[in-house]
Amino acid sequence: MSNCTVIPVPALSDNYMYLIIDNASKEAAAVDPVDPPAIQKAATDNQATITTILTTHNHWDHSGGNVKLVESVPTIDRVYGGIGDGVPGCTHEVGDGDSFFIGRKTQVKVLFTPCHTNGHVCYYVDDSHVFTGDTMFVSGCGNFNNGSPKQMTEAFDKLLGLPDDTFVWVGHEYTAKNCEFACFCEPNNEELRKRLSWAKEQGSLHSGGKGTVPSTIGTEKACNPFARIDHLSVMEFCGQCNDRTERMRLVRKGKDDWGKGVFSRTR
Ligand SMILES: [Zn+2]
Repeated sequence: MSNCTVIPVPALSDNYMYLIIDNASKEAAAVDPVDPPAIQKAATDNQATITTILTTHNHWDHSGGNVKLVESVPTIDRVYGGIGDGVPGCTHEVGDGDSFFIGRKTQVKVLFTPCHTNGHVCYYVDDSHVFTGDTMFVSGCGNFNNGSPKQMTEAFDKLLGLPDDTFVWVGHEYTAKNCEFACFCEPNNEELRKRLSWAKEQGSLHSGGKGTVPSTIGTEKACNPFARIDHLSVMEFCGQCNDRTERMRLVRKGKDDWGKGVFSRTR
């Protein structure tokens, strides 16, 4: 049985914050609470007490609310962030294999996934939910701002090693656009076409739609080109390149170029 409840809370134009409520104690963790009043309202609406902040990475649209939230919520006594990431207000820097509890029963395990930032972390909660920040998106992947294709490949390998039924809660609602690229990358994949129609139908939680979180690790294995670098169709997209790190780089470059409208299939 699940020890926690996850509430997604939209912020800014396309960010997701989350409230993780430990069911036994009603103590809660706020994930990337960039909009403190909105996350406090979610806590009040669910009769929960925020004691903990979980920060995936130092970018302002994820960590920019930390200090203000701590000032206005006296029950918060722990602010987590990745080692070396310079997260504002951080009291506990964490890395691979660290674990701790929210409330009485909700265990959090840390996955160190540097690349998008130097100390980006994902949080694997209650052996059933993973909070991926700007590392894995639904059908997509964060920019390699501070890292290499090798680091992102390693980060994805860690995430894809979790059980297929793990719920995936991401940092941004980019799903429809990501699915369009996925269809471009694998034009003969019927599953992706269905996924794109689904994403468009769901719309965004930020503008009154249903949103597309959570995904699952199993769905990402089927619908995320960055999770499919070992599949034949993605290998074909990469010109049959047989180095998987290089394929990760090529899919990223393909997405960036496609976004700018300059993609050419012949390399
Ligand atoms: Zn970011």
